[in-house]
Amino acid sequence: MTSTSDFTHTGLPMRVLFGAGRRHELPTEVERLKLSRVMIVCTPPQRDAGLTIAAALGELAHSVYPFAVMHVPREVADAAVEYAETNAVDGVIAVGGGSAVGLAKAIALRTSLPSIAVPTTYAGSEMTPIWGLTEGNEKTTGRDWRVLPRTVIYDPELTVTLPPTLSATSGVNAMAHAAEALYAPDASPIITMMAVESVRALNRALPAIVADPVSVVARAEALYGAWLAGSCLGATTMSLHHKLCHILGGTFDLAHAEVHTTVLPYVLAYNLDAAPVARALLAEALGGEDPATELYGLEQQVGVAASLRDLGMPESGIDTVVEMATANPYANPRAVTADGVRALVSAAFFGRHPAETLSVR
Ligand code: NAD
Repeated sequence: MTSTSDFTHTGLPMRVLFGAGRRHELPTEVERLKLSRVMIVCTPPQRDAGLTIAAALGELAHSVYPFAVMHVPREVADAAVEYAETNAVDGVIAVGGGSAVGLAKAIALRTSLPSIAVPTTYAGSEMTPIWGLTEGNEKTTGRDWRVLPRTVIYDPELTVTLPPTLSATSGVNAMAHAAEALYAPDASPIITMMAVESVRALNRALPAIVADPVSVVARAEALYGAWLAGSCLGATTMSLHHKLCHILGGTFDLAHAEVHTTVLPYVLAYNLDAAPVARALLAEALGGEDPATELYGLEQQVGVAASLRDLGMPESGIDTVVEMATANPYANPRAVTADGVRALVSAAFFGRHPAETLSVR
């Protein structure tokens, strides 16, 4: 976290439409960008959502392309780029979570086609210039302004179908972006405000969604938190938490949002004594004294507290994670040591209480 007297902030150029029913403005946004032959990208389970969007777009829609999958495998990206080029589409609409947005980004990266994102999870990818491509177990990421959507339409009504458990893990995934932005080396006071507001909103929204998954009010608050969290992710350098989740997801093929949810309380316990301002801000946003304990409690309340063992990681993998997480230096408030990472990952593996096992005091 930086002081208010010395910082750099680069604002993102996206136009954001936020609110229940705003999806109905998509045709106007497509015309605003002077597009007339767009492909709609979604995952296979969201094909119907894609078809509904296509019907609303009428002649502006060329087709629905329902082949997005998690982590953008290279062959999936290659096929989508070839499809876009062969069919001479002039824009891409991503309808869905990080997988759909990720595929739209892969197309934009190679073709420079403009895109619009209509997010239906809380992953936050639509607010970042970060693209990712996976070959085998190896995920490469990079930053490129061409992959930023021109417009993002956040319509909470589109998220009421997201199952409560996935809503909760996706929401904690968003909180992870905000939490790590609070101690990022390139944070700014603007990002800090957004991060705190994001955690506050998600902390209120997630229990409300689990209690009443079709509450548009609760869904709107979560989506608002996710938007802010995605902006934090796009503007700052992430640290140990994102590094660990990248390694765990890629090496053991663990589900993205679940891994973030499981690991975050432990990383907070590991890092926050070395990041006192972030600790104080998170404590205020989450309520209570210790953010790791509060988050762990929230996860138990909404039924998503899990261990890495529950998610399918083998115990023998702990050594691999320690080796990979300590192989190269990166920004983190507390030194990333082999012993420290081993303690953290072991605690997360067995699902021990984070605060009991990891405090550096
Ligand atoms: P996802 O997009 O794969 O969605 C998870 C599942 O939920 C899918 O089966 C999807 O079809 C379904 N789904 C989505 N919205 C739904 C809805 N409203 N109702 C019912 N089902 C719905 O998962 P995700 O967690 O959103 O995204 C994860 C991916 O995004 C990962 O590949 C991750 O690396 C990437 N990501 C990238 C960035 C970035 O900045 N580049 C940021 C965050 C995440």
